[in-house]
Amino acid sequence: MDNKKTCDSCGDASCSAKAKNQGENDQDFADRRRLQARLCRIQHKIVVLSGKGGVGKSTVAVNLATALALGGLRVGLLDVDIHGPSVPTMLGLEGATLKGTPGELLPVEFGGLKVMSIGFLLHNPDDAIIWRGPMKMGVIKQFLTDVNWGDLDYLIVDAPPGTGDEPLSLCQLIQPLDGAVIVTTPQKVAAIDVRKSISFCRQLNVPVLGVVENMSGFVCPKCGEVTQILPEGGGRKIAADMNVPFLGAIPLDQNIAQSGDSGKVFIYHASETPTGKIMQGVIDQITELEQTKKLDS
Ligand code: ADP
Repeated sequence: MDNKKTCDSCGDASCSAKAKNQGENDQDFADRRRLQARLCRIQHKIVVLSGKGGVGKSTVAVNLATALALGGLRVGLLDVDIHGPSVPTMLGLEGATLKGTPGELLPVEFGGLKVMSIGFLLHNPDDAIIWRGPMKMGVIKQFLTDVNWGDLDYLIVDAPPGTGDEPLSLCQLIQPLDGAVIVTTPQKVAAIDVRKSISFCRQLNVPVLGVVENMSGFVCPKCGEVTQILPEGGGRKIAADMNVPFLGAIPLDQNIAQSGDSGKVFIYHASETPTGKIMQGVIDQITELEQTKKLDS
């Protein structure tokens, strides 16, 4: 891809950054073009969504991005989970110092992966983000516009949970998104939110790659017996009802929790375990569906 390509030299007449939107001021137009010029250098953009926090969205995003990078691809991982940025902890990058100049942030390199997290901007990881709505949108926009990823094959985006203003502005800013992965837990109350996430994607024309049911059964580390701690199958059922692919059921596995806490990525350190193989199967399906575009839209 041509590194020097800018909006002015680009021949894509259909690009939305070619012309000013109605009512758009000069600054917003310039910002949009700057963002678009950065996004143009990224071939595949996948967002990981969930109806609520704590279901394993960041876990899936981190493992997906790492697996792609391990496959030799140029991958960026963007953590915009404004209230709970857990990517730095999951990769052992807490306290990483950002490099760059005002208006140009450089992602932190982790093996072959480029990582940017809203958590890197917080001086103290214990700080709660209590910005009001419009401020949060402004931060998300500026954050996206300022990060210089260079040329990437994949950008994996860990979105804020839910279907409110924050994931909405994110999905509107990253255009076009090639697909969304929706992570849920099996019980009905969590899975109901999946419907909202799927309709959210449909309204925004983001193709749904499918639903991952995480924390689906507990595998006893001693005897291997699977116990259903949460009621079963909510994610699978909703995927079927809403006619989107079911990407797989990842069990509760203490190795995943330990990996997340210790900064040792599960798919790298435990790929040969039964759960590691399930995780890899989920990842393979995501990339296969995204590449062949056998998608819901
Ligand atoms: P979210 O991004 O949806 O808020 P996280 O990915 O941060 O959720 O996961 C929440 C917690 O659950 C983390 O401590 C993570 O390590 C743990 N976790 C996620 N998936 C599993 C799993 N399948 N088995 C065990 N622990 C898990």
